[in-house]
Amino acid sequence: MKHIGFLQALEHEPADPIEYQLRLDDEKIALNELLGQSIELSFLDELQCIYCGRITKKFYGKNNSCYPCYRDLPENDLCIVKPELCHYHQGTCRDASFGELHCLQPHIVYLALSSDVKVGITRKTNMMKRWIDQGASQAMAIMEVPSRKDAGDIEIILAQYVKDKTNWRKMLKNEIADCDLLAIREDLITKLPEPYHAYLIPDPEIVPLTYPSLSTLEKITPLSLDKQATISGKLIGVKAQYLILDTGVFQVRKHAGYKVAFAV
Ligand SMILES: [Zn+2]
Repeated sequence: MKHIGFLQALEHEPADPIEYQLRLDDEKIALNELLGQSIELSFLDELQCIYCGRITKKFYGKNNSCYPCYRDLPENDLCIVKPELCHYHQGTCRDASFGELHCLQPHIVYLALSSDVKVGITRKTNMMKRWIDQGASQAMAIMEVPSRKDAGDIEIILAQYVKDKTNWRKMLKNEIADCDLLAIREDLITKLPEPYHAYLIPDPEIVPLTYPSLSTLEKITPLSLDKQATISGKLIGVKAQYLILDTGVFQVRKHAGYKVAFAV
């Protein structure tokens, strides 16, 4: 079977293991049942802005935007990567209604184990999606705060003691540190300034996550449609936003907006 369309980020449903879908435009292709089969993705030389749908010669920024969306959308503002720089209160948010819907909403500070332990933040309603997109094997919400900026301020404090990035190669190789998230939380509480203690979640729960996988790779080779027009191999796993093939790993979100033909 062959499908043609603009690639979107992988979609997933929490299950054991997590159920993944490849999206081409509005078409969804269940991936878990393709494990063990050979798949092929070919780039058809067309790029579409993931925000406005306009066809563009190249993408700007990291979010696969056309130039106007890169320049104007709040999703492409610096405060999205650095939430502590939120400038809503100065009246300069690129789109106040976006700020109200995405940033001035309850946020979670969490600990996740994807390679080593890391601290992260996310909008409360987006929590599970975020953990899966990062390939966490375990995750635990430790604080709930009123806004994204509060979460960003706390993350900066906690990132002095635990990492705030995932080592994606280790994550994809399933090289996961043996850590007790509850013990790490206890330790971090002792470093947390008193005024923030009111936001601690009293009985946090560790959420285990498992990903569809037949085997793991010894060596991680990133595959990109910018470097080769066709990517093919046997699908041996899906984790975070990656298709894991016996020939290398393909980061789907990085290729959102690429027009492709997908064949099994
Ligand atoms: Zn656009």
